[in-house]
Amino acid sequence: MSRPCPFRALLPLLFAGPLLAAEPPVDLRCEYLTQPLAVESPAPRLSWRLRDERRGAAQTAWRVIVASSAERAARGEGDLWDSGRVTGNATSQLPVASSALAARTEAHWRVQVWDEHNAVSPWSEPAHFRIGLRQESDWTARWIAPRDDTPLHTRRDTLHLPPARHFRTEFSAPKPILRATLYASALGLYDAHLNGERVGDAYFQPGWSDYRQRAYYRAHDVTALIQPGRNALGFVLAEGWYAGYVGYGLLVGYGPEKSGRNFYGKTPALRAQLELEYTDGTREIIRSGPDWRVTSAGPIREADLIMGETYDARRELTGWDRPGFADRSWEQAIPAEANGPVRAVFFDTRGERAVDLGFQAPPRLQAYAAQPIRVTEELPTRQVTEPKPGVFIFDLGQNFAGLIRLRARGAAGTTVRLRYGEMLHRDGTLMTENLRRARATDTYILRGDAAGETWSPRFTYHGFRYVEVTGLAGPLAPDTITGLVLHNDTPTAGAFACSDPVLTQFARNVQWTQRANFVEVPTDCPQRDERLGWMGDAMAYVRTATYNADVAAFFTKWMDDMLEAQEPYGAFPDYAPYPMSHGSPHGKTFGTAWTDAGVICTWTLWQTYADRRLVERMWPALTRFMDFRRATLSSDGLGTSIGNPWGDWLNVNENTPIEYVDTCYHALDCTLMADMAEALGRPLEAKNYRARFARLQTAFAKAWLNPDATLKVETQSAYVLALQSGLLPENRRAAAAAHLARRIAANDTRMATGFLGTRALLPTLSAHGQHEIAVALFQSRRFPSWGYEVENGATTVWERWDSYTREHGFEGQSGKQNAAMNSFSHYAFGAVMEWAYGTLAGINAAEPGFRRVLIHPRPPASARRAGTPALTWVRAHHDATPGRIATAWRIDGNRFELEVTLPPNTRAEVRLPAADPALVTEGGQPITAVAGLTPLAPAPGEARLEVPAGTYRFISTLPLRNAAP
Ligand code: BGC
Repeated sequence: MSRPCPFRALLPLLFAGPLLAAEPPVDLRCEYLTQPLAVESPAPRLSWRLRDERRGAAQTAWRVIVASSAERAARGEGDLWDSGRVTGNATSQLPVASSALAARTEAHWRVQVWDEHNAVSPWSEPAHFRIGLRQESDWTARWIAPRDDTPLHTRRDTLHLPPARHFRTEFSAPKPILRATLYASALGLYDAHLNGERVGDAYFQPGWSDYRQRAYYRAHDVTALIQPGRNALGFVLAEGWYAGYVGYGLLVGYGPEKSGRNFYGKTPALRAQLELEYTDGTREIIRSGPDWRVTSAGPIREADLIMGETYDARRELTGWDRPGFADRSWEQAIPAEANGPVRAVFFDTRGERAVDLGFQAPPRLQAYAAQPIRVTEELPTRQVTEPKPGVFIFDLGQNFAGLIRLRARGAAGTTVRLRYGEMLHRDGTLMTENLRRARATDTYILRGDAAGETWSPRFTYHGFRYVEVTGLAGPLAPDTITGLVLHNDTPTAGAFACSDPVLTQFARNVQWTQRANFVEVPTDCPQRDERLGWMGDAMAYVRTATYNADVAAFFTKWMDDMLEAQEPYGAFPDYAPYPMSHGSPHGKTFGTAWTDAGVICTWTLWQTYADRRLVERMWPALTRFMDFRRATLSSDGLGTSIGNPWGDWLNVNENTPIEYVDTCYHALDCTLMADMAEALGRPLEAKNYRARFARLQTAFAKAWLNPDATLKVETQSAYVLALQSGLLPENRRAAAAAHLARRIAANDTRMATGFLGTRALLPTLSAHGQHEIAVALFQSRRFPSWGYEVENGATTVWERWDSYTREHGFEGQSGKQNAAMNSFSHYAFGAVMEWAYGTLAGINAAEPGFRRVLIHPRPPASARRAGTPALTWVRAHHDATPGRIATAWRIDGNRFELEVTLPPNTRAEVRLPAADPALVTEGGQPITAVAGLTPLAPAPGEARLEVPAGTYRFISTLPLRNAAP
């Protein structure tokens, strides 16, 4: 319990009237976003954070007002909603309970809170959100397209890369503008322009969905761009995921006529409406329609997400997005449906089928739920080399995903070719073997500006560290190329560092890999012809993702993609969106553990963000999935191998049978489903899932458990998965973990695990008495290990443990690796960071949403370890929903020092190693003398206390320390 300062507690008695708490709430967000302009939900959820460093600071009540104007909000008038004073400590997931939130409503809101002494805060700064266009009837603009009589591209041996189209219209704004909002959607990718300015800083709008079911739209506040009198509105439209190359379609011959492109349709289309509200209360809507003009003659000659962009600066349409531009040579746009049907035969593993690639209006337009994709950082060139005459290599020093800015000077028509790679060959030339069919080449043709010219592509991105530049006469200055880091702008929410610099670097590499792959969907890799929302990778990594960044909105978006890709028979797909089905052993297009991402991601997001609404939204689909899972059980009640048999993908010579893996994942799902059912108030379903788990446990024991707690499947991952899923009976777990540790030791303290085993290996070892070997594996530099990658020069996480070695280059550790299937930016093996944050640094949620925290750092019993720096300190933080949770520990001899910071409105159980829990101090005082700290019953060698919000410095004496394993 918190013990407030006595003087503060007396204050309310001394002064009449409410006491003001120090700081108003901050970080006001609606549906996880700051000031969103198109909110889909009729009851959007609000959140805020408290700024209060006092120990024990807590919220006891809150009041939100939602007003229809900034003025009303400033006056404290909640004409749309006034919650009144509500007792409670909730600061997130609070729905606005107003029936007045119609489409387009602009809501201005403020919040004030009462603290633990009932002192009230000032009102927060106002925030706002707008309700989006909810129904088809809110849209009066038409879908338009260029007339397109070209034949469908049906070849695999040549690329087809049509130019981007420019659309334009002009309009008058005869009266003073109060507010102007541009709503836009596209089948394809759009950039909007208004009066010579590009609207916003987002890339790849409106986003990727299954366009046959649903398309995204975006809202832009363009009030400041409208000018009195004539205005010009323009759009550039590229093919994107709708009509361009997607994934490995070209490589394997999927898609219409096996072309790898046009998965959703042939011709991109656009729908936009600009809504003008004048100060006199009148409104006007500028709508896309066949009166708009369109041309294919602009500078963007090729624009493909995977293949690259070609820009001919001599063809720039100067002034096209300003009023008065002569567009007579442009064509008339047409209603998108007027292009008529486009018949083709579609190929994938579901078999050949006839499709129509003509325009089909998406049945639903949905506001984009995530932070936009934008440039979040620029990387200067570190080094320029010229491995062959005229071939320049720019090293940006970091593998990442994004674009470049080119600065060049030369004669008109000079053609600069830019190729991208993650690595170099030994002779210093660019390595592109691992791009497979991704051309990943941009071309810029100079207009010949004597002052020099600057260019950056708009409708493509690449995964790279090195840029090869040809076509320019050298020497080239480093600032010829600047890297632009691009991803969904998920706020950074974590950092990890420790006394082993290799691991600190690895933690950074994981963050870079997350940034490189959180582009529209959680992709497997950013460089080769893939970039798909692979479910197995996301399932393995999601927990780490939540530590590193606030991914609530990003996953909210992706879960919709997952929902609409669910198979009619209940399985979740291999990846989402799912434009082409992949593999179908026994007619099923999913893989064990990959398909389980539906349950695992939902559960993890709920744990992290207390997002009960997400669980409710997912529930019917999850139930269907679990029904499907039950139907796939063997007659012995075990898992089966009926889908894609990836299993413990990329393990090191230790295959674990799919039936075994499937049983473990099914059991894990049952536990997670039961947890969620209980939270949703569905006790019967919870009971049924627990009963199913018990049946799986019995069947598992019968099939695979030996009396001595060893398993009939002797792989490292078999033990890990049995422990992770809880399938081993309680009284066998320690023995099984000890056996696993022995196996690893017998393997020269090396992992043999793949995607599945690696994710749970260290958490499992640490949770079952084998923490020392977990730390040893984390610090290892020997193949296969995280340290091995870093020591071989990694700046991101590799797909394979031996993607590159100093001895054998891209041929791997054995010298036999396949360089083509070898990404240097794959986050799955980075999933170990959940253990680094949760176990080494000790930051854990004790209840969904982190309002109760478990701080349980686990220093190794032996700080020194042969061949690696001693692990003598760890420092980490995580910006959870209530605010920053931080730990920092340091070992000095036998002295253990732990600094803990808990944000206001949280409490933690803190567990720290202590030879004698009674001798633990905080701020130099025995803990019993410190107000607010409550000692709990200790465990052997461990002190435990209940701690309210605030910053604390604990010191303990470590239990007797052992020699390193
Ligand atoms: C991807 C993986 C993915 C896998 C399925 C690969 O091509 O890059 O990360 O999970 O396919 O086995």
